[in-house]
Amino acid sequence: MKPQALYKVLLSHYGKQLWWPVTEPGQTIPSYKPRKRLSGRQKLEICIGAILTQNTDWKNVMKALENLNRAGMMDCGKIAGARQQSIATLVKPSGYYNRKAKKVKAFCKYLQKKYNGSISKLLSKPIEELRSELLSLHGIGNETADDIILYAAEQPSFVVDAYTTRFVKRFFGRTAIDYVEVKGFFEQQLPKDAQLFNEFHALLVEHGKRYCRREPQCGECFLAGKCEFQQRK
Ligand code: SF4
Repeated sequence: MKPQALYKVLLSHYGKQLWWPVTEPGQTIPSYKPRKRLSGRQKLEICIGAILTQNTDWKNVMKALENLNRAGMMDCGKIAGARQQSIATLVKPSGYYNRKAKKVKAFCKYLQKKYNGSISKLLSKPIEELRSELLSLHGIGNETADDIILYAAEQPSFVVDAYTTRFVKRFFGRTAIDYVEVKGFFEQQLPKDAQLFNEFHALLVEHGKRYCRREPQCGECFLAGKCEFQQRK
């Protein structure tokens, strides 16, 4: 099965996932809903969420984002000027909080210094330029950079995470495949469409949580008839 056909099957099974959840004005908790435009504050929240989600579940990130929102700290200038320890206290639910506070502060300080605090200026750069700039920053690796490009900048850069890599190895029978190869595998076979990449990644995560877990639930999986992993058994 080709990636585009797989996308259609996953979409018809799970429906739209409406990523990335962000906080509406006057609220403090991110929510999943269709949005025509993201505000600068929402873009910043996505970037911070992308850093905080490293090595933890999203539900923990939600609590950290809620703390930042409640404290009125979802603001580039405020984070850049705050003590690292204060940020660490707010992002504690996301785990590795000292390291993450350092990364979030470094990101905001960079934005303040280079773009006068305007996240939109950074995110409006062409994909390749934006990607290398993000990767040059403290604590931003491939997955975080692609989360930011796809979900905050709304530009087509396919996101790969542990769920995606595990699924590709099993479903498409690929072995020893690294981040760049998985990303290229999808990008070379799909139209460069940010909305498609957005939904596809979210659907792969959903499938990885429900069926293609560390211990795969192949007996119940609706993709079993097309899956290389199943056919090799
Ligand atoms: S059949 Fe098993 S290995 Fe294949 S996608 Fe489904 S859960 Fe994963």
